[in-house]
Amino acid sequence: MTTSTGGPSRTDGLWDLAIVGAGPAGSAAALGALAARPATRVVLLDRADFPRDKACGDGIAPHVLDVLAEVGVSGVLDDWMPVRRLHLRHQDASVDRSMRRPAYVVPRTVFDSRLLDAAVQAGAVLRRHRVRRLRAESDRLIIDDVAEAKVVIGADGAYSAVRNSLGWPASGRRALALRGYAPTPSDRAGQQVIAFAGGQQPAYAWSFDRGDGVSNVGYGELLTSRRPPPGRRYILQRLEHLLPGSVRDAGDWLGHHLPLSSWRWRHPTGRVLLAGDAVGLINPLTGEGIYHAVATGVSAGQVAVAALGENDAAGAGAQYRDSVRCMLGSHLRHTTAAARLVSLPGMAGAGVRAAGHEQRVFDDLVELGLGRGTLPPSTVAAVLAARAGSLAPSPRSP
Ligand SMILES: Cc1cc2nc3c(=O)[nH]c(=O)nc-3n(C[C@H](O)[C@H](O)[C@H](O)COP(=O)(O)OP(=O)(O)OC[C@H]3O[C@@H](n4cnc5c(N)ncnc54)[C@H](O)[C@@H]3O)c2cc1C
Repeated sequence: MTTSTGGPSRTDGLWDLAIVGAGPAGSAAALGALAARPATRVVLLDRADFPRDKACGDGIAPHVLDVLAEVGVSGVLDDWMPVRRLHLRHQDASVDRSMRRPAYVVPRTVFDSRLLDAAVQAGAVLRRHRVRRLRAESDRLIIDDVAEAKVVIGADGAYSAVRNSLGWPASGRRALALRGYAPTPSDRAGQQVIAFAGGQQPAYAWSFDRGDGVSNVGYGELLTSRRPPPGRRYILQRLEHLLPGSVRDAGDWLGHHLPLSSWRWRHPTGRVLLAGDAVGLINPLTGEGIYHAVATGVSAGQVAVAALGENDAAGAGAQYRDSVRCMLGSHLRHTTAAARLVSLPGMAGAGVRAAGHEQRVFDDLVELGLGRGTLPPSTVAAVLAARAGSLAPSPRSP
């Protein structure tokens, strides 16, 4: 298991790339950079000792593994049970189908450590340090007077110190969620179960079976200025109401904010790149953020190395912004639009009914929620038909 080699020091010299935060975005950034140019001098700075926990549903989309394979990392979850069944529920509507590709449910103490191990094996140096401030000095960035680098990637999560020290605003909409671990009841084994709350406040409870007799259970909802953030007691009541039996034997509760993505993704120019939660990239429909963290992390690492190779570190921010917009732009617009639609009366239930009616609609919604899918017009039409109560006869299953 990876341990840091102590704190950073200016005697380490000038790093090509300093990455703040060694979660999925940070480790992926190191992997992206080192796969592109193995000789890059990369330091990963994290305030925590690993393995460290992180509030999460632990759901890992198959798309995450695709991105990791592109930077030479494979087999990281081979000893965990793939989860193929997804059960969605909204009041009296429900659908239980197989996903085209299985997901995984793996504790972040395991997943994040394995990614970090892969980054260190690829050549990254891990140092333990809580970053507070960045300052620019001619051709370099100085981190708290303990490290200096040509390019910095801020992958330090929802409350990013790197983003704050740039004066860059946090993403607009946020959700709050609490997770715990509970024994898996037999009727939820081998499944990811999501029960949407009724009402206009987008919210849902989940129970994700890890495959080892334990499920990750939790509840999250969108924060609005109309009412104070939900407290722990309320959250546990909502979880128990939506998924009865989840709370009594559960423990290890941990909560966190989720910075949600929006219509247009913005990013500063210059030699600091922001990836994952630090730059508000959580899917507003599902709360999934690991795929976006890993995908933008790898992209940030690759762009940083390319910019260094061209002696244009100051141009890295603009190049990275273009690269992420090209990769995720349509998806971010579609998820923002879908999140707005879902908050209209009757839409969430209609989505569940349409997905129950047709595998194709289910697959499209899974792609939108877990990967970087968009909403085809035929799927929008199917959801609207379900809302109007006029679904066409169900197509025969292949
Ligand atoms: C309750 C909950 C459930 C969720 N469920 C899912 C799910 O099932 N599937 C999914 O895909 N996503 C889920 N998400 C979202 C997911 O957890 C995040 O999108 C993901 O962790 C983002 O990865 P990251 O690397 O950007 O940030 P993080 O995972 O937050 O990593 C940031 C790292 O930076 C370090 N750090 C922070 N500040 C500093 C500092 N100042 N100096 C040095 N280091 C610092 C931290 O120690 C940490 O290691 C959930 C989120 C919540 C809150």
